[in-house]
Amino acid sequence: MAITGGAVLCIEVTINGEQRVLAGVVMAETLNASVTVHPGFNQAWIKVDGEIAPEGQPNADAHWLMSSASVGDVVQIRLIESDDPTTPSLGRTDLEAKPVPTDGIPFVCGFCGKEPKDVDGMLAGRKAMICHGCVRTLYGMLGDGDTTV
Ligand SMILES: [Zn+2]
Repeated sequence: MAITGGAVLCIEVTINGEQRVLAGVVMAETLNASVTVHPGFNQAWIKVDGEIAPEGQPNADAHWLMSSASVGDVVQIRLIESDDPTTPSLGRTDLEAKPVPTDGIPFVCGFCGKEPKDVDGMLAGRKAMICHGCVRTLYGMLGDGDTTV
């Protein structure tokens, strides 16, 4: 399937006739839309997420939708091309977290708080990320003894 122009292949999720999300991002490695049922808890969840690999950045988990569902709900998943998809919230998964891995690591610089789109690159540690600008600032500080950013 060929993608033309600036459009990107997206997943549109419609629940009971109402469009809930148009998930897509150019840098996406994978996108997933799923319905998960937990009969023992009488619960159902509709989830749309994915993994993205931004240029010069660590991979990130992208989240578009996590919605509960009920008996009788009609969930429609459609593949469409769009040049204006919904922006996902980004996070990183801490696989070392106990008792279960968490995706609660913010996808921002842990020092200055900037987002990946506002910096020229990021490095990822196990629990946090740091942008190239802060690395340069910290490197410069090593010489003059100052310890505040
Ligand atoms: Zn920074």
